[in-house]
Amino acid sequence: MKTLGITPRKIVQHVFLGIVVVIGIRFYQFVCLIESGVAPGFDRPPGVEAFLPISALVSLKHLLVTGSINPVHPSGLVLFLIICGTALMARRGFCSWICPVGLISEYLGRIRLFRLRSPFVLPRFMDFPLRSLKYMAAGFFVYQIFFKMPGPAVEAFIYSTYNRFADIQMLKFFTDMSSTAWVVLVVLAVLSVLFRHFWCRYLCPYGALLGVIGFFSPGRVRRDVLRCSGCGKCSRNCPGQIQVASKTRVDSAECSACLTCVENCPEEKALKFSFSTASKGLNGATMAVMFILVFGLGITCARWSGNWQNDILVREYLRFAGPAVPSPLPQGINPGNMNPASIDPKKMKRMIQMMQRLKEQQALTVPPGQ
Ligand code: SF4
Ligand code: SF4
Repeated sequence: MKTLGITPRKIVQHVFLGIVVVIGIRFYQFVCLIESGVAPGFDRPPGVEAFLPISALVSLKHLLVTGSINPVHPSGLVLFLIICGTALMARRGFCSWICPVGLISEYLGRIRLFRLRSPFVLPRFMDFPLRSLKYMAAGFFVYQIFFKMPGPAVEAFIYSTYNRFADIQMLKFFTDMSSTAWVVLVVLAVLSVLFRHFWCRYLCPYGALLGVIGFFSPGRVRRDVLRCSGCGKCSRNCPGQIQVASKTRVDSAECSACLTCVENCPEEKALKFSFSTASKGLNGATMAVMFILVFGLGITCARWSGNWQNDILVREYLRFAGPAVPSPLPQGINPGNMNPASIDPKKMKRMIQMMQRLKEQQALTVPPGQ
């Protein structure tokens, strides 16, 4: 199905982008209320934990060692497992069907600067070593967490204050961005305009991990040499710069199962994405349903089994990010010397004001059990 350039992939990408935006706004509201000392009347959206991949990796090790899902960021681990599951089904399909960064990269890649007709392509001697950067980053995290991190350190990390409130700190990173972070972001955006999918192709460790898992997927783009006319449209349109026209099946870890090659092939049944040579090719609509089903079923199972919401109480969020409680006594007042006659009236006034503020803070209504 391809009508007015609207493909099932585009629809799925924008739906997931919408979900991410809603989650982001809801979480922002949650943190704003917490910071002003008010207990939010709604739950923190658990989906925000999808943006804590390192925590999810540590949680996976915890799951492998203990056999249980930790209650600190359970949805982070569930979403991580779902995403890895999609790689077993459709290789790096997550990158081109779900990931909002992938969608933003696609839009950035369409911007034409100074009338350039197409983004630059790095020569192979630069492209290959640069592509290995993301595998090195992914390998570093996997090695450090799965081979170097001892069991007690895993437990200590999971229950540390840093990890428990990593979602709030991640939000703060974006809302209070430093000038260095802005510069890095702008440089990456410009590079994504000049080079197609710069972040995804060269730097994203998540994509690298999915690429490696994707090797175990039976899903592949397959070319029927007898039906192929050799026009080369598949190669020219592939965002992964894969020479599809010269392969009988695409094994590259850069393939994101986007189906662009299949959609651009003029010859009927010359190209397909399928689970075996003999099986029927999957079209965009089927792929879309597959992704939605995997996410939907995974999240539903997590909710039913009680592994979706975390166990952090609202009062713990208030203690971590709420307004600082003022010291009961102003500086310079010695509680051991409280003879009223000896207290400076100005200091006494300050003390009374602070006591009143403390009383107001304590009167903040925190529903029981939160
Ligand atoms: S165009 Fe084809 S070969 Fe290239 S990434 Fe998309 S599905 Fe894979
Ligand atoms: S687009 Fe289709 S016909 Fe053209 S080279 Fe690729 S597989 Fe062959």
